[in-house]
Amino acid sequence: MSVAVSLQNVYKHYNRVPVVNDLSFEIQSGEMFGLLGPNGAGKSTTIRMLTTLTRPSQGEIWVAGYDVVKHPLQVKRRIGVVLQQTSVDNDLSVWENMEFHGRLHHIPNPQRQQEIDRWLEYVDLVERRNDPVKTLSGGTKRRLQIARALLHQPEVLFLDEPTVGLDPQTRRRLWEIIRDLNRQGMTILLTTHYMDEVEYLCDSTFSESAVPNRIGIMDGGKLIELGTLKEFRQKHGEGLVMKQMQDRWDYKFFPTLEAANSYLDQQPNKMGMMVRPSNLEDIFVELTGRNLD
Ligand code: ADP
Repeated sequence: MSVAVSLQNVYKHYNRVPVVNDLSFEIQSGEMFGLLGPNGAGKSTTIRMLTTLTRPSQGEIWVAGYDVVKHPLQVKRRIGVVLQQTSVDNDLSVWENMEFHGRLHHIPNPQRQQEIDRWLEYVDLVERRNDPVKTLSGGTKRRLQIARALLHQPEVLFLDEPTVGLDPQTRRRLWEIIRDLNRQGMTILLTTHYMDEVEYLCDSTFSESAVPNRIGIMDGGKLIELGTLKEFRQKHGEGLVMKQMQDRWDYKFFPTLEAANSYLDQQPNKMGMMVRPSNLEDIFVELTGRNLD
């Protein structure tokens, strides 16, 4: 197993305030790594450092075998990046956007045209290839961004909040694309503040890859939890008893669903109580004492 991304004691300060605070983790080749956290947690700043857009104030970052500060060009050649702000050129057509990116990466013809066709087909945009980008919907633009990010055959793909602001159907479609890319062996780091997104994309139970997909939870610039969804549930408890108090729910974790059920059975008064399997949101609330949104 080889390491695709490595951060060691990374800090980023803005006006002396650490917005990324002693961050260390590694991503294995072939892994889908979900960086989850509320707005302001430092996820985008982390992705900006990993993709050479901003320098770390302290610490070391290696991507695809290169130090991001010492060898940013080598890193850029080996990564695909989809940032939150749609960065495609609205005045150009779909094909022109791809062509421009392909030329920037010095991909020679006829390979460039073959790769453009391949990736436009992959994201289902062949029929829109001559349309100006300004006529595309938000979700379609995002698919173009993904196709463009893959054109130069990157080793690692970075997706910053890939489905923010998209309708549920479009999100599902993008999820399928992202999951399929990972199944083909692409290493992916995605940031999100959507629980369901990481639950869907980073659930190793459904992954055919030998590398387990993991989730890192960030809060206040720090990594507060790291592991697979299964490990999180095993650590915090797979069963949950909920009890309705006046205006809120009281949560109690149990190692298994059976243990939660037998606890409920023993209660003389079961009014307002229920049992269910725990999920990522429960664990996040347990860790931080608050909801994400
Ligand atoms: P997230 O992506 O998790 O929402 P960000 O990385 O965007 O978090 O932001 C983390 C913190 O850093 C926020 O408090 C934000 O205001 C601050 N921040 C981000 N970029 C800058 C900047 N260029 N200058 C000053 N503060 C910044």
